[in-house]
Amino acid sequence: KARNGHEPEFIQAVQEVAETVIPYIASNEIYNGKNILLRMVEPERLISFRVAWVDDKGEIHVNRGYRIQMNSAIGPYKGGLRFHPTVNASILKFLAFEQVFKNSLTTLPMGGGKGGSDFDPKGKSDDEVMRFCHAFMLELNRHIGPNTDVPAGDIGVGAREIGFLFGMYKKIRNEFTGVLTGKGLSWGGSKIRPEATGYGTVYFAQSMLKTKGQEINGKTVVISGSGNVAQFAAEKVLQLGGKVVTLSDSAGYIYDKDGIDEEKLAYVMDLKNNKRARISEYTKKYSSATYHAGEKPWGVTCEIALPCATQNELNVEHAKQLIANGCICVAEGANMPSTADAFHDAKILFAPGKASNAGGVATSGLEMSQNSLRISWTREEVDERLKGIMEEIHNSCIEFGKEEDGFCNYVKGANIAGFVKVADAMLAQGVI
Ligand code: NDP
Repeated sequence: KARNGHEPEFIQAVQEVAETVIPYIASNEIYNGKNILLRMVEPERLISFRVAWVDDKGEIHVNRGYRIQMNSAIGPYKGGLRFHPTVNASILKFLAFEQVFKNSLTTLPMGGGKGGSDFDPKGKSDDEVMRFCHAFMLELNRHIGPNTDVPAGDIGVGAREIGFLFGMYKKIRNEFTGVLTGKGLSWGGSKIRPEATGYGTVYFAQSMLKTKGQEINGKTVVISGSGNVAQFAAEKVLQLGGKVVTLSDSAGYIYDKDGIDEEKLAYVMDLKNNKRARISEYTKKYSSATYHAGEKPWGVTCEIALPCATQNELNVEHAKQLIANGCICVAEGANMPSTADAFHDAKILFAPGKASNAGGVATSGLEMSQNSLRISWTREEVDERLKGIMEEIHNSCIEFGKEEDGFCNYVKGANIAGFVKVADAMLAQGVI
């Protein structure tokens, strides 16, 4: 804490893990006295760099770029890039730390990392975004590689940005390799990668519900966000017969009492991905919906909630309200969307992001495998593997999280299962 006290999000993420992992270490001889957690919270490498770029009017701007290489005990660093004005070292360290455990849970050989910039893509032209991405990669390229560190997308970094970043990497290094994931399908991307985080979150919710003899079919679902994760979580819920009633963005949320069906979801995808407009536009097209400026959707009655926007968007008051309204299952699509106390004492089905949203990075791992083999699996093949991985993550959570009264503490389960694999590798590799 003395070293990182000025980094609240990072401290929050570490505390949540420490609470469950420290008692486990204390009761297991092989981990005891090795200071493993102390070694895990210190990034192997933290890179910060200047990104200078020129806007359409010829004015020069400077942003700060980062790459946090957190842990490489079980594979190359792997984790997304976030472009958002709130990005700072604390947020990226929390994300990188979570990523280490998440990647370990996927069963694939990937270490953990995260990066990004305080650059805001909102309101920028395609040319400006391209110039920024190129300038960002001018520096980042020397720190990454298909066997070293493989970045991907996150908030503000989607298919467009990955394209610009990959183009510059290829030009500088004169090689076509799987150095980034989330690539376009015609140039090395994996089928199902865009869908994977959202789909995986819903598969995980499905597994949790099954333990109670329940299913998604017929249930009302509240979703926050309207970006990549939220869109495909909504799509999978609809495919499984659920009713999605909300979506949001940073300005507010929409509530559609009739449900957001496939046609309405296609409209949202066009609105957010092509027109890059606000979710409030939805109410101009569909009169069954209302818009709630500056609010979160957690007051809306539902059985399932999927927070898919950003960190700390759901606090303990929101959690109480959800439960009072009959919510029985929460699966985090975003990273740390719930505050530490939100579901701490709630005896409902609650999955932390590092377990339920791991489908995205797992499919990135599958993209890396396909790139190395220079082959492309079918949609069905990737989806089957994704389903299998989500099922395995669920099993690991049950193995390490089941309590004496039969209740499954998924937070504890995910933390310990993620920890064991990384800790064993670190012990085997010695003090480095
Ligand atoms: P997108 O940029 O596609 O969408 C982000 C969504 O969250 C938008 O609706 C955005 O609204 C909203 N949002 C962003 N910042 C804030 C904020 N400060 N307050 C309120 N709303 C906000 O990102 P993704 O969908 O890819 O990511 C969403 C979450 O999922 C993040 O936590 C990310 O780390 C996590 N995640 C993503 C993975 C992936 O594969 N993409 C994998 C695993 C986790 P607006 O348009 O107004 O900015």
